[in-house]
Amino acid sequence: MDELAQVASIEPGIWGPELENYLNARGWTLGHFPQSFEFSTLGGWIATRSAGFASTKYGTIETMTLGLRMATPAGMIETQSAQENSVGPSLLQLLIGSEGALGVITRATMRIRALSKIANYRAMLFGTFADGVAAVRDIVQSDLAPATIQLLDEEDTRCFFAFRKQARGLQGLVETTESRMLSTLGKSIEQGALLILGFEGDAYTVKVTENHVLAICQDHGAFDLGARIAHAWFRDRFESPYLRDALMDHGVMMDTFETATTWGNLELGYQKLTHALSQAAQEVGARILVLTHLSQCRREGATLGVTFLAPITPHQEINHWEHIQRAAIECSIDHGGAIAPHSGVGYEYAFWLQQKLGALGYDTLLSLKKRLDPKNIMNPGKLFLPA
Ligand SMILES: Cc1cc2nc3c(=O)[nH]c(=O)nc-3n(C[C@H](O)[C@H](O)[C@H](O)COP(=O)(O)OP(=O)(O)OC[C@H]3O[C@@H](n4cnc5c(N)ncnc54)[C@H](O)[C@@H]3O)c2cc1C
Repeated sequence: MDELAQVASIEPGIWGPELENYLNARGWTLGHFPQSFEFSTLGGWIATRSAGFASTKYGTIETMTLGLRMATPAGMIETQSAQENSVGPSLLQLLIGSEGALGVITRATMRIRALSKIANYRAMLFGTFADGVAAVRDIVQSDLAPATIQLLDEEDTRCFFAFRKQARGLQGLVETTESRMLSTLGKSIEQGALLILGFEGDAYTVKVTENHVLAICQDHGAFDLGARIAHAWFRDRFESPYLRDALMDHGVMMDTFETATTWGNLELGYQKLTHALSQAAQEVGARILVLTHLSQCRREGATLGVTFLAPITPHQEINHWEHIQRAAIECSIDHGGAIAPHSGVGYEYAFWLQQKLGALGYDTLLSLKKRLDPKNIMNPGKLFLPA
């Protein structure tokens, strides 16, 4: 670790929690928390260009990674730091996101940050998802950087409240009063869109950011639900993936899909995606529940994360899942959205990568693959389609 420069060189097989525990004990953090945090590694994060839920403040993995060493079949590659090499295209960025198809990352030099002194959480309820999107756009375009911004659409909000453990005693009384108060104001958690905010840093920065962000939300008609609901969201943030297997045992398929797009494209893209999923489900005779949230918010746009649930037809599981998943990907591409931002290309999206990059773009990357891995032994079929 070079604490003066705030960088650390790390062997990338380390698991998320192990890495954070090591850094936290010394007063530092990487600040990278994908939902797969408990069971994923630094190498996997870099290889899939992943993004965590605190990326508004700490950045996505490609902005935290300052240097890499990679063992490829053609030899070792070590990128230079930005200080040593500020000219020409970035070799580093060609290796980030390469999903083990070019080589194995054996060391990563990462930007680290001082552990926050304060972490405040807040939940706001908007009348509609569209109101929340407008507020979030104003927040990120005002250069405010709450660590976490997660906006749930109306359906996702309804599910969040439905599945939340009911509070008892005094807490329960507070919740009942709160929901009465909401209905007096003509609002309801049954119809609104929930925004979860996390603020991290020193006391002064947190206070100033929080005040400013809450004022923007209120300008867009949001109702302040306080800290409690946001704490519950943070406490349970790694839990929903565990539902998948349990639901399958009960005859329900559950999967996720992500797309990223610009603010101007977002509202229509959201509607088209929801419609495409419902239509695809109808075509296979299933009813579908589509839950969407907005995250990874940037000045120019954001990521839409979709979770869909549909009943399983025995022996048709894979066909139906593929039909629904394909509808989501094609809709997203037609609408100018990114495919699978942050979750990797793997085998599943390799076909669409070619389409997205165009022939010349794809061939440019393929020539890198051929130079570094001439016998195609590194994750064949991932990222790059079989020849
Ligand atoms: C439940 C769930 C939730 C998720 N949530 C998120 C999320 O919030 N944000 C997000 O961005 N992604 C998410 N993902 C996707 C994925 O888990 C992450 O992208 C994660 O970074 C993968 O890390 P891993 O260590 O599990 O890698 P693996 O799944 O083991 O590997 C992923 C790819 O990277 C390659 N790889 C791994 N290590 C190296 C290395 N050292 N050198 C070269 N290649 C390597 C592998 O060969 C493979 O192709 C989620 C996945 C699941 C299953």
